[in-house]
Amino acid sequence: MVFPALLAPALLAPAPPAIRLTIDAREVSKQVVHVTLRFPVTPGPLTLEYPKWIPGMHEPVGPVQNLVRLGFAANGKPVAWRRDGYDAYGFQLTVPAGVKELEAHFDYLPRPNDSDEIAYGVAATGTLAVINPSALLLAPRGSALTKTAFAPTVLLPERWQKATSLPTTPTVSLERLMDSPIFAGEHLKRFELPSPDGVPHTLAVVADTDEVATPNAHVLACMQKLVTESAALFGARHYDKFTFLLALTSGLPQYGLEHHESTVNVLRPNALGDGSGTPGQWNANLLPHEYVHSWNGKHRRPYGLAGKTFNQPLSTDLLWVYEGMTEYLGEVLMTRCGFYPFEAEREHLRQTLVSLDGRGARTWQSLRDAALAFPLITNKGDSTRLRLSNDIYYESMLHWLEADALIRQKSNEKLSLDDFCRRFFGGVNRGPEVRPYTEAELAATLTATLPGVDWTAWLHQRFDSLEPQAPRTGLELAGWPEHLGELSEPRREQETLTDFRFSLGFRLAGARITRVEPSSFAAQAGLVVGNQLTLLNGKPFSNQALREAIRGSKTQATRLVLQVDSAREVAFDYLGGERLSVLERAGSTPDRLSLIFLRKK
Ligand SMILES: [Zn+2]
Repeated sequence: MVFPALLAPALLAPAPPAIRLTIDAREVSKQVVHVTLRFPVTPGPLTLEYPKWIPGMHEPVGPVQNLVRLGFAANGKPVAWRRDGYDAYGFQLTVPAGVKELEAHFDYLPRPNDSDEIAYGVAATGTLAVINPSALLLAPRGSALTKTAFAPTVLLPERWQKATSLPTTPTVSLERLMDSPIFAGEHLKRFELPSPDGVPHTLAVVADTDEVATPNAHVLACMQKLVTESAALFGARHYDKFTFLLALTSGLPQYGLEHHESTVNVLRPNALGDGSGTPGQWNANLLPHEYVHSWNGKHRRPYGLAGKTFNQPLSTDLLWVYEGMTEYLGEVLMTRCGFYPFEAEREHLRQTLVSLDGRGARTWQSLRDAALAFPLITNKGDSTRLRLSNDIYYESMLHWLEADALIRQKSNEKLSLDDFCRRFFGGVNRGPEVRPYTEAELAATLTATLPGVDWTAWLHQRFDSLEPQAPRTGLELAGWPEHLGELSEPRREQETLTDFRFSLGFRLAGARITRVEPSSFAAQAGLVVGNQLTLLNGKPFSNQALREAIRGSKTQATRLVLQVDSAREVAFDYLGGERLSVLERAGSTPDRLSLIFLRKK
């Protein structure tokens, strides 16, 4: 085999000159970024495009509407342009004779207070900014992501520093440029997180003050453990260095996004706690989740999501692996590295489970369909529950928990999903390399990890079937099946006052019904979402009174007469006492959940 580097230089086509990009963010705090591009060109028709499919968003949402004052010039004279009539992301012009360099300029105006700007635009306060180069460039139509070279320059306000995984080499590929967000600010602190394999990891924190930009010892210890636990889980890394970009501020929406060599994380100051209490689960999960994507989503990427250009339509089919398995592994790492207590995570799994029950959507929509429709439905769930939205994250997560527990059970606890991870995501570190995969390879690697299970059928059953009830097998195999019973934990006091799903069949916010379970007492009585409960047995309705009445019906049926919307009445003869979902240890099954989430030997 002959490597290109060994060829005589004359045999290689000269690399085309780089596109020079200047991102002038000196006025970013005034919510404007000035962009100038200089393209090496030849005379004739040219179409320049703005990025449409943003990696990690799984949607064609590039914020082209935020471009203003767009113009082109050559040799100091304006060049006329018009937008492509069939593609609002394309700009057509004719390069005049004799012109070798075309200049493009535009201003980028971010939408204030929009979390999407953090993911793929520009978001700034008076003291810090998140700048995504993918929002600040144009490229000739059809430019190959890996073969188009840019020479970027970034100008920042005086005294601001920046952190980014953008290489410091004179030129960088379009792919890497788009994949390298920049965090900048007046107050930026860096913390090195040593790794046993010697690969550098940096936590770069921007905040409104130096004090907030200095995380407490608990957060630094968890981050250090995240770096070491990820090596144990995946067996290899696929980058030369990694930068965790973290903004701790109240001035921006909270959000995160994955990249190959860095992650974007925006949280409130103190969102990760100091180890003395339990932080919000979403907060605790953000850094681990986005980091797992460096392996699952960036290094290993479904073929359908590995576009050659930024405007090539992508297929979101395997998002139930890309996002679903990442949700699972992220929550596992979050617990293993101490960001979130195991008991709280167990409760989170239970809440996830019951939140997935009774979705009308799952009578017609498979998880695969939810993945394929992701560009249409992301974060747009609705109270009818007839459309899936983020289910590819949370239902898939419970399926991957089942896969993990199944591998442990069938191998007499010798193997786990960690072994699959080392096969599928491990290998040799060749820097930020993309290795696309097919569903067949996924099934084959599961089979290589644990032969004797028909993994193709297993995947088909979970991701192509219709099933309105939440998947309970994972928690059962993990030794913590769900039961219905009474609760005494004060932490869930609020829930006992609002959740009547397993008794009468509805859930409340105050006295308003927010959810009705199919085939329940409530559904049969014609109660619907939005109904207001006004009287209970002739007295003003209160959640506490309803709860007490239900608790009193354990051995003897109780008549409950509810007045709805100050008008009609519905009556139930209810027997069964308080029924709330709880996870309980099944003594006959090993406590695999603890083994998984605490990585006990
Ligand atoms: Zn994700």
